[in-house]
Amino acid sequence: MNLVVDADRVLADLNELHERHGGPDGARRLAWSEDWLAAREWLQGKLAELEGVTVDRDEAGNIWAELPGANDDGGFVIVGSHIDAVPSGGWLDGCLGLLGALGVLRALAASGEPPPVTVRLVDWADEEGARFGRSLLGSSAAAGTLDPDDVRDLRDAKGTRLQDALAACDVDLDGAGAAQSRLAGALAYLELHIEQGPVLLDSGRLASAVSGTFGDERYLITFKGQSAHAGSTPMRLRKDSLAAAATAALEIREVGIRHDGVCTVGAMTADPGVITAIAGSTEMMLDLRHLEADTLAAMLEENLDACRRAAEKFDCEVTHRRVFGATPTPFHPKLVQLAREAVDAAGGGDGDPIPSGPLHDATEIGRLVPTVMIFSQSDPPLSHTAIEDSPEEALRVAIEAYGRTVGGALDAVANGELQEARA
Ligand SMILES: [Zn+2]
Repeated sequence: MNLVVDADRVLADLNELHERHGGPDGARRLAWSEDWLAAREWLQGKLAELEGVTVDRDEAGNIWAELPGANDDGGFVIVGSHIDAVPSGGWLDGCLGLLGALGVLRALAASGEPPPVTVRLVDWADEEGARFGRSLLGSSAAAGTLDPDDVRDLRDAKGTRLQDALAACDVDLDGAGAAQSRLAGALAYLELHIEQGPVLLDSGRLASAVSGTFGDERYLITFKGQSAHAGSTPMRLRKDSLAAAATAALEIREVGIRHDGVCTVGAMTADPGVITAIAGSTEMMLDLRHLEADTLAAMLEENLDACRRAAEKFDCEVTHRRVFGATPTPFHPKLVQLAREAVDAAGGGDGDPIPSGPLHDATEIGRLVPTVMIFSQSDPPLSHTAIEDSPEEALRVAIEAYGRTVGGALDAVANGELQEARA
C-alpha cells in the first residue's frame, strides 16, 4: 500500500517537542523524571487526536497506541522508538522515530479505511539508561530479557534507587515482565532513527536501510609487571605494564580494521601513576563490536592473543574479565530489502544497508520479531549532545522511506510473507 507520511507535520511535531522539552541547552526528557512524564503527556495528547486510536501503558511503562486493522486475527505491526533523552541531549535521537511513527499512524487513521492488519505505536520507556546506567529498559522487559534483581538497586546521581524511581511513575519493577504479552502476535517492528555516526555523511548518503545491530563484547584487561624507579632501572630490565598495554592497544586497532568491525580501547589506568615510576600494573577497557557472531568471536580471540603477546614481550602477566556481552541482532532480510527499496524510492539512492554500532530498542525486539530500522544521515555526525542534527533533506527522505517501508511491511504481512518462523 502507498503510505504517505506528512513530513512537514512530523518536522513541525519535532520542533514543537524541542521547544517544549528541549531548547538551546539540549533535551530535558530524562527517563522517570517530571520532564519526561510531561513530554509523554504531550505525545498522548497528539495520539488522542487520531480517529479510532486507543492509548494505554504496559506494566513496564511503555506507552502503546493501537489502530485496529481489517484483519482481526490478533496479528499486528509495531512502529515506534523512544522519547526519553540523555541530559542535554539532541532533538532527534528517539524523537525522530517516535514522531515518524506518529506520522504513520496519523496517515493510516486519516485514510478512512482500516489498515490490512492492526498497527501499534510504542514509546519505549528508558531507552537511554542515562539515569541508572541500564539501557533499553522498557524494550528488554517486553522482550523478556530484564531481570529485576539485576537493576533494582541501581542508583542515580542523587542516590535514588531504580526501583523507587519506577514506583514513583506507577511502574512496579517486579511486574514489568508482564509487558511481554504485548509482543504476542507481533508480525514486524519498524524503527526510524538518526544514524548518530559519520558513515552516511562520509559517503554522501541521506538515509539508509540498517542491516542489524552489532554484537558487543566488553572486557577489563589487566597487565601486571613490576613498579620500579624510572631512573635506576635500565630499559632492558623493566617489566613495564603500560608499554605492554599500549602495544596491545595498537594491535587491537588493527584487528578492528582487518575485520571491518570496531575495537576500542577507551581507557587505561596505570598504577602507581607516578612520573618517576615504571607502571607496575595497567588496566585497560576494551569494547569490540561486529554484526556477525563468528567474526566477533574471532576478533575477541585475536585481541586477547595480542594482549598475551604484548605481555610476553614486556615480561608481564595479563588477565582479563568480561564485563558485558550482547549478541548481534541481524534484521529481517525481507524487511531490510523493503527498506532499501523505500530509501531509493524516496530519493536516498540505492546503497548497501549499513549496520548499527549503537544498540537500539530494535536490538531487543529484533531477536523475537521480524525487524528493520532506517537511519537518516547525522550532520554533525554526533549524538547525545545538544548540537546533534540532520539536514532537513535527510529527515524528509528518511521519513518518506519509513512510511513506504511500513506500507510494504503491511502488504507483506497481509500476504503472509513474514510469518515464517525465525531461527
Ligand atoms: Zn535513540
